[in-house]
Amino acid sequence: VAGLDTVCLTKDELADVMVKDCLFSRANKIAPKVVFSSNGQGISLNATDKSFANIMSQADMIHADGQSVVFASKLFTKKPLPDRIATTDFFHNAARKAQESGLTFFMLGASEEESKLACEKMRIKYPTLKIIGRRNGYFTKDQNQEIIDEINALKPDVLWVALGKPKQEFWCIEMRDKLDVGWIKTCGGLYAFLAG
Ligand code: UDP
Repeated sequence: VAGLDTVCLTKDELADVMVKDCLFSRANKIAPKVVFSSNGQGISLNATDKSFANIMSQADMIHADGQSVVFASKLFTKKPLPDRIATTDFFHNAARKAQESGLTFFMLGASEEESKLACEKMRIKYPTLKIIGRRNGYFTKDQNQEIIDEINALKPDVLWVALGKPKQEFWCIEMRDKLDVGWIKTCGGLYAFLAG
């Protein structure tokens, strides 16, 4: 859709793929899958900024975060998307499936306050969900290695990354080969929603 290969799945189907990929990744040492989302801003950047388009082309999967993307798929493609997968909704499908299957989450990004509150609230909402680590998203390039080491020591199945678009997409692609995780999922303003 609008130049981006977009997965034709529902939220629950994407969460099933997450579980399958992460369990496979645990059993077989493979590079993490990078999962991005597309919305109006992403499509516009993809069309106008070559370096962003190059980064987007390296994602393993892109899902339609915005309703406009679903609408465009109905107008311009032969196989319209079944559903909008807003990351703020998808997190809950993912959390339920992670509870059932024992997948672990690491939450990277947002201010210290927002990150802390979002994790506290999700630990209450999903008591058996394993949020095994979190870190705010305000760090320098010099701290990247320290962050990678912190994440790799915990080996989470899903690393959620909220650094704002396009910073988070560049960070995920730059770091993917250094990270010992199953999925790297960008999540923009998610923590503000989770923190309420
Ligand atoms: N953020 C961050 N580090 C940065 C820049 C932004 O952790 O260097 C966080 C910011 O606090 C917010 C999120 O990234 O929680 C960006 O949210 P926004 O809604 O702007 O993201 P978008 O969905 O537009 O990508």
